[in-house]
Amino acid sequence: MMLLSLFTFLILGCSNNSATTNSNNNTMTDPQHPDNPYYSRTDTTVLHVSDAEWKKVLPDSIYQVARNKETERAFTGKYVDTESKGTYYCAACGNELFRSDSKFASSCGWPSFFETRRKNSVEYVADNSYGMIRTEVLCGRCGAHLGHLFDDGPPPTGKRYCMNSIVLDFEPDGGAK
Ligand SMILES: [Zn+2]
Repeated sequence: MMLLSLFTFLILGCSNNSATTNSNNNTMTDPQHPDNPYYSRTDTTVLHVSDAEWKKVLPDSIYQVARNKETERAFTGKYVDTESKGTYYCAACGNELFRSDSKFASSCGWPSFFETRRKNSVEYVADNSYGMIRTEVLCGRCGAHLGHLFDDGPPPTGKRYCMNSIVLDFEPDGGAK
């Protein structure tokens, strides 16, 4: 019994400590996103953050696409022609979305991928706006609008994730310089 009590104490002690550390620790903020406390490339906890709060922490250009579902003009995005090896994260929350291996040269004018990094990297919603029947792609962690999914992609999936560059953060393999 003594051992069991001691064990329980240790476990509780541990979780208490980590809770204290998290709530008091602002250094958890990603150094490249100091104004955005929700940005993390390791925390996969689903976020429930209001648009008003996002408006405070995101640059307006990202906010307009991520929360207002704007679309950047074709061929204007910074990652349209990127071919470097690396990982694409959600620019709003840091969620891992795509690997460069799944990016392909598409003539559509937006960065295009044939599969996501993980099954739950993104979520899908039917989008019937502008008189079209499309599948909207949202970030699986923060719900940011990323782009749309089409069925005219290359093998092996036949899918085309047509994304807005502004809501992607690209990290080259080996880390940013
Ligand atoms: Zn996100």
